[in-house]
Formats: sequence, C-alpha cells, structure tokens
Amino acid sequence: MILVLEKGITQLKKSQLKSILAEKGCMVHEPGGSGQNILGVIAKKKLDKEFLMSIEGVEDVVPISTSYKLVSRQMKQEDTIIKIGNIEIGGDKITIIAGPCAVESREQAMIIAKEVKKYGATLFRAGAFKPRSSPYSFQGLEEEGLKILAEVREVTGLRVVTEITSPMHADLMMKYVDVIQIGARNMQNFELLKCAGRMGKPVVLKRGLASTIEEWLMSAEYIAAEGNRNIILCERGIRTFEPYTRNTLDLSAIPVLKQLTHLPVVIDPSHATGIREKVSPMARAAIAAGADGLMIEVHHKPEEALSDGPQSLYPKQFGRLIRDIYVIAPVVGKQLVHNYTGYSSENREPLSSKTSRDEKRVVYLGEQGTFSHKAAIQYFSSDVENYPVPSFRDIFEHVKNSSADFGIIPIENSLAGSIHENYDLLLEYELFITGELSLRVIHNLIAHKVAKLEDIKQVFAPPPALQQCRRFLDANPDIQMIPVNATASAVKSVAESANLESAAIGSVEAAQLFDMAVLEEAIEDNPRNFTRFVIIERQMANQEARSNSSPKSSIVFSTSNKPGSLFEVMKIFSENQINLVKLESRPIHGKPWQYMFYADLEADLTDAASKGVVSEIEKNTEFFRILGSYSCGS
Ligand code: PEP
Ligand code: MN
Repeated sequence: MILVLEKGITQLKKSQLKSILAEKGCMVHEPGGSGQNILGVIAKKKLDKEFLMSIEGVEDVVPISTSYKLVSRQMKQEDTIIKIGNIEIGGDKITIIAGPCAVESREQAMIIAKEVKKYGATLFRAGAFKPRSSPYSFQGLEEEGLKILAEVREVTGLRVVTEITSPMHADLMMKYVDVIQIGARNMQNFELLKCAGRMGKPVVLKRGLASTIEEWLMSAEYIAAEGNRNIILCERGIRTFEPYTRNTLDLSAIPVLKQLTHLPVVIDPSHATGIREKVSPMARAAIAAGADGLMIEVHHKPEEALSDGPQSLYPKQFGRLIRDIYVIAPVVGKQLVHNYTGYSSENREPLSSKTSRDEKRVVYLGEQGTFSHKAAIQYFSSDVENYPVPSFRDIFEHVKNSSADFGIIPIENSLAGSIHENYDLLLEYELFITGELSLRVIHNLIAHKVAKLEDIKQVFAPPPALQQCRRFLDANPDIQMIPVNATASAVKSVAESANLESAAIGSVEAAQLFDMAVLEEAIEDNPRNFTRFVIIERQMANQEARSNSSPKSSIVFSTSNKPGSLFEVMKIFSENQINLVKLESRPIHGKPWQYMFYADLEADLTDAASKGVVSEIEKNTEFFRILGSYSCGS
C-alpha cells in the first residue's frame, strides 16, 4: 500500500513512522526519493487501515490492487530511468543494445562492437553462456567470453550486456559485465531472479516464451524485492499457433506495460521474428508504439554465425534501421541516445565558478517547462545540470566565459523557418556546434484542473504559438488571444492567477510542472511541427563524438560580389559528392546588400580526407569558418 504523509513532514517524524512499520515486519520504500511525501509499504501480514491512519504523520492509506507491488505504476508514478554509466534507459530516451547472439571469438566481438557503435548503439550484447535447446549446439565461450566482453568495453567504451544462466556465475558476472540478462527460458527461475536482485547490477528481464504479462511482472517483483529496482523489461516474442515467424511479437505489451509499471520496456525483434528481413519493420513499429529501446542481433558474417545467424542484421542494415529510428523518435516525443562522449573528455579547461570539475552545465533559453528545457533534458544525461537564462545572447556569453559547458539553441522550425538571431550570434561568438537534435512541438490548451473549455475567455501564448494554432483559435472565436514571451511563462501566469477563464498554450511538461490540466491536446494546425536545436561549446566536438556513420558540418562564408561566385562554392560540393542539406543567407551588419551564407553539409570537414575540399572553399570565399562538425543520425 501507499501511505500519503502530511505535507512538510519532518525527517524525525518520518523515521519514527518507518521504525513503527519495521517493527510490524513491513518493507518500506520511498518510490519518489526522500523529498516526496509518500511511502510504499509492503506488509507480510494484512495491516489494519485504521491502525495505519492512527500513526502520526499519515494522512491517507491507498492500497495497491495488483499482485506485484514495487514494480507497479501505483507504487511509483514517474518512469524509472536506469543509469548505466552515463547511458540512460527510460523516460524520453531511446537506447539501442546491439551485438551478436554469442561471443564467438575476440576478433568477431571486436569487429561487431565497433560496427554497432559506429551506427549508434550504446550497449553491446553477446552471450557467453548460451541456453540452447539442444545440448549439442554451441554453448558459449563461458568465462573466456566474459573476458572478451570486458575487453570490448575497454576498447570501445560501450557498456556490455550478457545472459546469466545460473546463480553459480554471479561472481564472474560482477567482475566482467555492466548489465545482466535473464533469458526467456529462465524468466521463472526464481533462484536466479533472487540472485539477480542481490547482485544489484541492472537486469534485462526477457519475457518467457509462454508467460503472461502478469507473470512477467511478478518475476520482475522477485528482483525488486531483493532491493534491485534497475530492471529493464524485454519483450522478445511469445509462442502462438503461427509458425511463419519464430515467435509472435506482442507489441501491445508496450502500452499495457506502460500503464502497469514504471519500468522501461525494450523490444527484441530479432528473437521475436527469427527472420532478418522482418527485424527492421518490427523495430520501427516498436518505437512508434512507445518502446524505450531495442535489442538487435547484428553479425558481420551471419552465414557463419554459431547461433542465430538467420535473424542477425548485417551492420549496414543495422545502420539504416538506426537512421529510421532517429527520425521516428521525435514524432513520439523521444530522442535516440547517442554515445555523446563530449563531456567525458579529459582536455577541458577548469570551470571558473563551479564547485567540481565533473559537474557539467547546460544553459537554455527561458524557464523550466519550455521546449528548450525539454530539448536539454532529452539531449543530455541527468548528470548534466540545466539552467535557464533570459536571452539567446546570455547562452553564448555563459558558454564563452566558461560558466556553462554547453548551450542549447533553437536554430530553425519546420513551419516558421530559421531563428535568425541565433545565426548572427553563431557568427559573432567563436563557439562551435557539437551536436543537434530535432524536437516535435505539440501545443496544448492548458488551464486549471477544474476549468472547462466552454468557459475559457482568454488564452496566453507567444505569437508563433498563436500562429501555429490558428485553426483551433478560429473555431473558438470567443477566446481572446493575449501575446506573451514564452509558453512556460504563459502556463505559469495562468497557474498563479486562479482565473478559471484563462488558458495558456504550452507543452504537456509545462502543464505537469505547474500542476495544471490539458483541456485540449495537440491543437497545432500542422502536426509536422519540429524545431531543430544545436549544441554549442567552446571547442569542436572531439573525434569520438564525430566518428559516426552520419557526419554533418555547419559552415559560414561570404563570397566576392561578382557573377557566379556562390556557384563556384556550390560546384566544390557537387564535384566532391557532398550533399548540401541547408543554405541560408543573412545580411552582413554594416555592409548593406552583402550577405553571409550558412550551409549544412553531409560531411566531416575537419577530417583529414576533407583537407582538399576545405582549401578549395578557402580559395573561393572572402570569409570562411567551420562552425562545427558533429554527428547526426539521419
Ligand atoms: C538471446 O538474447 O540471445 C536469447 C537467448 O534470447 P531469449 O532468451 O529471448 O531467447
Ligand atoms: Mn540469440
């Protein structure tokens, strides 16, 4: 059950309460962390509600109706985000786990690990102990395989996931790997589940071949009951009467689980389908259905694989799939997690006004609950602190003078076009673009929880948001439009006003932040409303962050005022087969009718191989600067 505690309860009262519960033999959890006023209580024997209500500090008692408790959504409303180093699984992130079915040799593991990393995987999977249907099939390299996995982690920086088949192997797993996997055949091996719970390492818990969702969650509960809440559920197909595919992928498990549990859900379309060609379509569907990640089998020579070759993707196929995932993710409000190693690099300057060298900061425009804030949360892991600042220029200033490590700025919107101020600031400040992300902008009509749409008389929103919601506002002509600076401040001012006739336009996050209700969802005219953000830093992205399969460069240049001079620059791109993805011109301040050109190219211009191209551009321009080379997923 959940105990709701009185507001502002003192730590002393809380610990007295906890010891009363402990005396009664209860397990006590603080699902939202110690700052919240709820306690999760699991009692071995039934406890009287009246007794609980009589304890000082308890305001209400809410029973948990499901047979699983700790993993249930009733126990914890927020999504659990699992941290593996600086990689996160859950929340708004999409994480890719990829690798061969089994470790076959050092060389095989290393080749595949480098390939999957290049295309965007952040975790490497491979079995060292293989639970095979036949005792005569390849059983895995055992400890030798685990040593290879540890070496893969050392060399590539990828975190490693492997299956544990017996509690006897717990010590070995503790020594060599980051995440343990409990396979479908062991989902109800209760001794193994308890052992995984005691080990404390993150666990990928696969769904049993013929298990219901409830049985699966009960298995997760076994792990959680031992104190380990780092559980990732993995749907990998179930047995049905359909023989065409190896198993039947139950994609409806995703929304069902999202309602029942706070744990992250990943999909393994490889074991689900057993057929290479069917893996990518199901992976794309899984992301569209709300999965937090994918586990994909990849092999550079699947014809020679010792297990599961027919379902393993070739590295290039895997790369194409990841490009699709990169595009689909923002549509459902998520971002692909990339191996963003920029902030772990050693050669950074010490930070002037900060308490520790390790603490990283990103600054964004506006205030909490804005789309810029959301972009910062989606791009960086939670160990990077985010701070709002009042203007775009402030973002550049903070990064320049080292009071922040990163800035995140919107650069263009798919409907409204470029944000010119930021283009001008990119030229003015000698900072670099080191990454980008695209965020889908969904506008909602937000008001007090008791307010009704028919009573709304005025709506607060910044002019572009009002513009983007024209159709909705035209259909509701009695609502007066009041322009303000930002969506989040609009929501905040309505929240503070207590006026039930006022509403604001903003994100779901802003509504949650200010404890408001969404009266009408997705009121923007055009659902293809995306904003592209870029990350700015004092130095270029390091080699590691750039060594991606899809490099991109942003440049700025001016040409002489004579016929064909822009054409000469374009010709260089054409002759070198470099795809130009954006070209923008901006007036040069103080030089009427002269222009700077900003271009985005699908190439890494800082790469040694691009030296020739760069010197050609220099020869044909009056001014030229590389704003940054970085990786993008599409
Ligand atoms: C595997 O991941 O290689 C595996 C054996 O999976 P499952 O337990 O889902 O069959
Ligand atoms: Mn396999």
